[in-house]
Amino acid sequence: MTEYPPEPFRIKMTEPIKRIDRHEREIALRNAGYNLFGLKSEDVFVDLLTDSGTGAMSQAQWAALMQADESYAGASSFFRLSRAIETIFGFNHFVPTHQGRAAENILSSLLIKPGLYVPSNMHFDTTEANIRARGGLPVNLVIEEAFQPQNQHPFKGNMDLAKLRDFVKKIDPRNIAFGMITITNNAGGGQPVSMENLRAVAAIYREFEIPFFIDACRYAENAYFIKLREPGYAHKSPLEIAREIFSLADGATMSGKKDALANIGGFLAMNDETLYRAACNELILREGFPTYGGLAGRDLDAMAVGLMEALDESYLAYRLAQTAYVTEKLIETGIPVIEPPAGHAVYVDAGLFLPHIPPHEFPALSLAIELYLEGGVRGVEVGSVMFSREEASGKSTHPRLQLLRLAIPRRVYTQAHLDHVIKSLASIFRRRENLRGYRITYAPEFLRHFTAQFEPL
Ligand SMILES: *Cc1c(COP(=O)(O)O)cnc(C)c1O
Repeated sequence: MTEYPPEPFRIKMTEPIKRIDRHEREIALRNAGYNLFGLKSEDVFVDLLTDSGTGAMSQAQWAALMQADESYAGASSFFRLSRAIETIFGFNHFVPTHQGRAAENILSSLLIKPGLYVPSNMHFDTTEANIRARGGLPVNLVIEEAFQPQNQHPFKGNMDLAKLRDFVKKIDPRNIAFGMITITNNAGGGQPVSMENLRAVAAIYREFEIPFFIDACRYAENAYFIKLREPGYAHKSPLEIAREIFSLADGATMSGKKDALANIGGFLAMNDETLYRAACNELILREGFPTYGGLAGRDLDAMAVGLMEALDESYLAYRLAQTAYVTEKLIETGIPVIEPPAGHAVYVDAGLFLPHIPPHEFPALSLAIELYLEGGVRGVEVGSVMFSREEASGKSTHPRLQLLRLAIPRRVYTQAHLDHVIKSLASIFRRRENLRGYRITYAPEFLRHFTAQFEPL
């Protein structure tokens, strides 16, 4: 049993939050069109919508902001970030971007032509959308265990190597723009990828001369999972493991809002000089000059410090124990969750929690809405709202899992907050038969979960 870990920090600055009453929450929800993204954050008590950009910065990061260099070109902040990226990632070149998706956009714009494929274990929603927006075809080839929520495989984010090899041969490598892998696998329950699997994936991509880019958003959590779970890595530091991971690839996309412990930022890193030049041109058009890439100098410094802090072992032990604590408490209550515990989030299996609500009536959305009404807790649907697609025939295909994701912001909430979340879910579980499905009343073409509107059935 995972004990709740004493935080490896103490709190120096506070931000007030309050719990509005249930009636006020009902009004807020209706006004938001039953989309939790439409709520005002002040109407949320414990906000587990995302761990993206919602972390608390350290005193070292705040101090770094004060020393930032806001020069348009050649700022010293850029070179400090450059040193951190060199230390951890080791790629020859990088460009800062305002978020991870901007890095995905630049990479997609440079390498994808309509009809080209991009295999991965599982693409995250923004990655998938950026590939599709350029006419590309994202393909998910994660191992079968990823779809078995109670399967205890230690690396459920792994690529299915046989499927990858078959796919590359069948499709012809010339029809593949580049290959990816997401660490940890956010869309698949935040599960890690093993070093052994990363090595094998890299070897296949290399054999067929396919450029290999890692979606590195949670590289530090993935490195620590390797240390904890993979034979031969217990005595290596997270930094050594991270360096080994990135030595296998040709580049990486990164969101600074995850394991760079910053509130904004990202980068695209690569070894290829020609690609780097093209990326700089694209960057100047859309993001900014290559030494700031759409960010303030202070954002670059926050990332430079945060990238290293994310590899601190006491931080990583605390971080992974938090999700393990919530996951295990929910299992004790009988609530179906994805096991084993993931890095950044707890994933409730809403399909099993609410078996009477079919996928096209959005069981995970229903559970997310009820959790907000019950406890003022905001999670996010990762199911048919996010991932179902309309085929040309008019038939829709649904993802295999309907999940409610409770993402834990870094260094923000205490045990009492998490106990409140556990209690709220337990209370819903006791009366789960009463929950109903939802219907979409408005949806945009891409990334519809952010702005879609719903009504209860
Ligand atoms: C967050 C995330 C992204 C996109 O990064 P943003 O900074 O939100 O644009 C891409 N991939 C994964 C796995 C992510 O978690």
